[in-house]
Amino acid sequence: MCYAIPGVVHSFEGNHVIIDYYGQQKKAINELTDLAVGDYVYAQGGFVIQKVSPLEATETLNAWKDIFFELQDTDETLAKMPVHNSENPRLLKIIDRAQNKIQLKDEDYLYLAELSDEKDYNLLFKSANFIRQKYQQNSCCVHGIIEISNCCSRNCHYCGLTVDNDSLERYCMTRDEIVAAAEEAIFKYGFRALVLQSGENCGYSISELADIIKEIKQKFPVLIFVSFGEMIFDELQLLYNAGARGILLRFETSNPELYEKLHPGYNLATRIEVIENANKIGFLILTGGLIGLPDQQPIDIINDMRLAKKLNTEMYSFGPFIPHPDTPLAGKQIVNPIAILKAISMIRLLDQENGKILVTTGLETIAPGVRKDALLAGANSVMLNVTPLKYRELYSIYPNRAHVSESIEYQIDETINLLKDIGRAPTDLSVNQ
Ligand code: SAH
Repeated sequence: MCYAIPGVVHSFEGNHVIIDYYGQQKKAINELTDLAVGDYVYAQGGFVIQKVSPLEATETLNAWKDIFFELQDTDETLAKMPVHNSENPRLLKIIDRAQNKIQLKDEDYLYLAELSDEKDYNLLFKSANFIRQKYQQNSCCVHGIIEISNCCSRNCHYCGLTVDNDSLERYCMTRDEIVAAAEEAIFKYGFRALVLQSGENCGYSISELADIIKEIKQKFPVLIFVSFGEMIFDELQLLYNAGARGILLRFETSNPELYEKLHPGYNLATRIEVIENANKIGFLILTGGLIGLPDQQPIDIINDMRLAKKLNTEMYSFGPFIPHPDTPLAGKQIVNPIAILKAISMIRLLDQENGKILVTTGLETIAPGVRKDALLAGANSVMLNVTPLKYRELYSIYPNRAHVSESIEYQIDETINLLKDIGRAPTDLSVNQ
């Protein structure tokens, strides 16, 4: 099973290539030197990552052909706007404005965030799903994540990996283990995009991390995202030159005072600068924040969404804060999952055409089974945990993480079944021409 379907090269436009998928044309950046019109390729995140033989491509395309259009029909049907009987004129007006691409004001988003009637917030979810389908069709990214080390030099107050947590057994996967995990994810399971994540200063130097990325890129066709925390421009550039093309770095909160309270000795401006530098270098940006932090105000979350958009986010990652017993925030309250679904929908109203929105593991942890609801509320991306099972439990950013003990096969089966059920294609077709 593949998590991207091949397309055929239709034409070239500078360093871009137009790829045809069953008659639908999408644009991607091409870094391969030997590509010609008529070749079959896999693309991910807007990058061509591999040329495939016509035989392999046509076999996959034949297997997908019928289901590709069936899925589109299912998605379109589910995403139709209901003939709503809402008696809430303010909500209807806001949704109408969003659908007409009129920028919403802070007070509109605050109003949406505070909707308490189930009928009302369901209408918000449906509207976001309608907009998702209208601009991004039924593609759903399925990326894998390998948590290469839980060692960390920072002291984030919410995170179980904090350097101050003495009770956590630390691990650092060896270079061979990392490459083997990537190989398994790519060749055995068909992933085409992988995130490598760790705590900050995880035990590897940046040049060692660059070497690992280089080795993976030389051996396997894959889009690599790095998530090792903050680094300076030259370090980012080193990872880019090694072949990484995306970075996952949440700014966590856009409120500078709250940021400094949660990260003593660090500041928000520096973190934002890292994201901006990564964007300048050409990395795809995956960012976002935590929802439900102690002392966080509703307007902070609206500001978070706006900041993410300003940072040219390719994929939004907003999840709940979940208290960890071995951190200063132990015992704090967990946010209602509905608040996260509302945030997903509001982000979809804010970034209608381009942004992918991730269903976070954090959300699935506080509300098992919610992935489907999130995908029907504007989200269109999931990340499966492909870290070797023996390490997963130790990557304890918060307790009882969803999927922590599930095999990769099980996660894939569950995901593919869900995507089929709601008409989503696990492909990367969202970069419009
Ligand atoms: N060092 C990397 C990865 C950090 S861990 C970096 O700085 O980006 C990945 C993410 O886990 C963090 O960005 C944070 O948002 C999330 N996280 C950590 N502790 C959490 C908690 N208690 N609840 C929810 N998410 C948490």
